[in-house]
Amino acid sequence: MYSPDFEVAQTLFYALYALQHRGQESAGITTSADGYIFTHKNTGLVSHVFQENDLSALVGKFGIGHTRYSTTGSSNTKNSQPINVKSSSSELSLAHNGNIVNAIELKKELELEGVVFTTSMDSEVIAHLINSYPSNNIVEKVKYAMRKLKGAYSLTILYEDKIIGIRDPFGVRPLCIGKIENSYIIASETCALDHVGAKFIREVEAGEIVILDKFGLQSSHFNGLKVRPAPCIFEYIYFARPDSIMNGKLNYSVRRNMGIQLAKKYPVEADVVIGVPDSAIPAAIGYAFESGIPYSDGLIRNRYVGRTFIQPEQRFRVLGASLKYNTLAEVVANKRIVVLDDSIVRGTTTPQVLSLLKSAGAKEIHMRVCAPPITNPCHFGVDLANKSELIAAQKSVSEIKQFIGADSLHYLSIEECLETFGGSLDTNCTACFTGDYPIPVQLELDKMILER
Ligand code: AMP
Repeated sequence: MYSPDFEVAQTLFYALYALQHRGQESAGITTSADGYIFTHKNTGLVSHVFQENDLSALVGKFGIGHTRYSTTGSSNTKNSQPINVKSSSSELSLAHNGNIVNAIELKKELELEGVVFTTSMDSEVIAHLINSYPSNNIVEKVKYAMRKLKGAYSLTILYEDKIIGIRDPFGVRPLCIGKIENSYIIASETCALDHVGAKFIREVEAGEIVILDKFGLQSSHFNGLKVRPAPCIFEYIYFARPDSIMNGKLNYSVRRNMGIQLAKKYPVEADVVIGVPDSAIPAAIGYAFESGIPYSDGLIRNRYVGRTFIQPEQRFRVLGASLKYNTLAEVVANKRIVVLDDSIVRGTTTPQVLSLLKSAGAKEIHMRVCAPPITNPCHFGVDLANKSELIAAQKSVSEIKQFIGADSLHYLSIEECLETFGGSLDTNCTACFTGDYPIPVQLELDKMILER
């Protein structure tokens, strides 16, 4: 955010709160005033990382913030963002959403030039790449990096008296612009704008570089790569909040459409429709609406246990699932229930959820899933496990049905899913379902690659 009128730290803090669902491992804010950069960051939730006095120390009218969900590098204090890098001639702070697939090669090149790395994040590679380019013009520096970077990156950068927002040429991860009076704010999702009283202006376009400074908002485009747009389909399915608008669509309506589509294509006789909270609730409402079967809450989520997959290790995931949900026995006992979920990834949580419902007396369970079977890992910013851990890469739909303990199981096909938001195979990244990566990737790539 840049504000000509007020200090930005408080606004950034509340905006980060609204983006906490995108990452719960660490949080941080960098501000600048009179050429000095101030950073406060740590592991943990936004509410744990920032106390009142931390925010008051973050002075200045320029600032960027970040909540981290790791896709490269482990979860520790060093690997928190924004990341600050400095050379003899320039200094910048950067926050990154996405994942770079050629980080190893770029890191080696930079090391040969004498750059010393302090973290195992691909984001540090981006920061050094931009900062090392010998120019005082930040747009030139950024364009140089964009020519070399392969992968997904939505970025905010604090450089001198400017804030820069960048979306990679494929537009894989979201990024949007809002305005509060004379101040501009750039965020991953529009829900962050709403919570701080900013008006949503527009999304940052794929390949666009937006500059905020005392002259207002300026824009430049990187035309160095001719590529197709590839915004991530999983943002609609799971990742983004339902009240965010992406590519012109309210996510809530897209998810409701997914439920409607499932009811049309995969109907079943049942007594009640429930959703696995929170991401599948709009789809369950859509299924109930289309089928005429009553909707009810059936599972209650303990809101103070985070998204289970955000705890990076499998042993926590297994624990997390059973700690996370409770059943409403009165609703499900002796009923034939339709259970909506947004996705089945590893198949660790789903059998546990179904077994909770059976213990509460459910007579039949008909599972309906918004996402198609996930058969390939994501290399562009969603931690979807390795291929060997993805249940749909190992088992057929009927084997999965048996494994999770459902009486019937249907997924939306990729075409049916795309239809719910007017997407297409040529205008979205659907690699987790199709294996068709818009950006070529080495198959052996993994999350700890910069740690070895
Ligand atoms: P599972 O049965 O273990 O695959 O867990 C299914 C649940 O995982 C669904 O309710 C999804 O909401 C959730 N989920 C969505 N995305 C991910 C992800 N990237 N990693 C792990 N779980 C996810």
